[in-house]
Amino acid sequence: MLYLVATPIGNLEDISLRAIRLLQETDIVACEDTRHARVLFERHGIRPRRLVSYHSHNERSRAAELADDLRGGASVAVVTDAGTPGISDPAWALVREALQLGIDVVPVPGACAAIAALSASGMDTTRFAFEGFLPLKKGRKKRIAGLAAEDRTVVIYESPHRIKRLLGELLEACGPERHIALARELTKHFEEFLRGTIPEVIARLTEKFPESVKGECVIVLEGRSKNEELREYDLVDAVDEDEML
Ligand code: SAM
Repeated sequence: MLYLVATPIGNLEDISLRAIRLLQETDIVACEDTRHARVLFERHGIRPRRLVSYHSHNERSRAAELADDLRGGASVAVVTDAGTPGISDPAWALVREALQLGIDVVPVPGACAAIAALSASGMDTTRFAFEGFLPLKKGRKKRIAGLAAEDRTVVIYESPHRIKRLLGELLEACGPERHIALARELTKHFEEFLRGTIPEVIARLTEKFPESVKGECVIVLEGRSKNEELREYDLVDAVDEDEML
């Protein structure tokens, strides 16, 4: 079995009882950063049987080794630095490899920054698209244009030092009336949500951080609304008139 064990995205209490048990019972725990994982393990008195590192620089060789262990009948729990393994982190490569070998992959759900941000964003959660990290250069502009035209709510991950640039690009692509929610430092001491139109959020973020933004961020972008589509085709007045008749 390959268990994908979700771990906290900040608050160390955000972990399930099942996750704690499996981290002690599995033969191997593969983690992105062993020092990071040890903080969590100490907090909950977890003593893994064997701890190995698994990250984007050794993912190929380590995935092959872990695949051998799994084939030999070992159970492996994968944890990443934060949140749900496989969501915008190197664990997805291991999942693919395990499935190709016919090994059972079992999710052990818990915290995920995208879902935490979306759930409290105030945006429509009935339909949403997860974008994750945008490409840094090639294809970025086209991807952002696609997001601007998306009807569903969109969830985007971005590093703090690129967040202002991304907000500027979204403003250009979506216009000044589109709403967003910026979730920063989720579940941590300085957790905050900035909600409003894109220019409003930019203004508040810049006021707070005139230089570089601190803390991890998720952006939740309102979908292109019916009103906006109608506005574009100048039909709003016509609809209002219809309703009045
Ligand atoms: N696997 C993780 C998950 O389930 O959310 C995501 C890992 S990805 C490498 C890291 C990104 O997730 C960050 O750049 C940020 O966009 C988002 N993130 C993680 N922790 C966060 C937090 N506490 N507050 C806000 N965003 C967070």
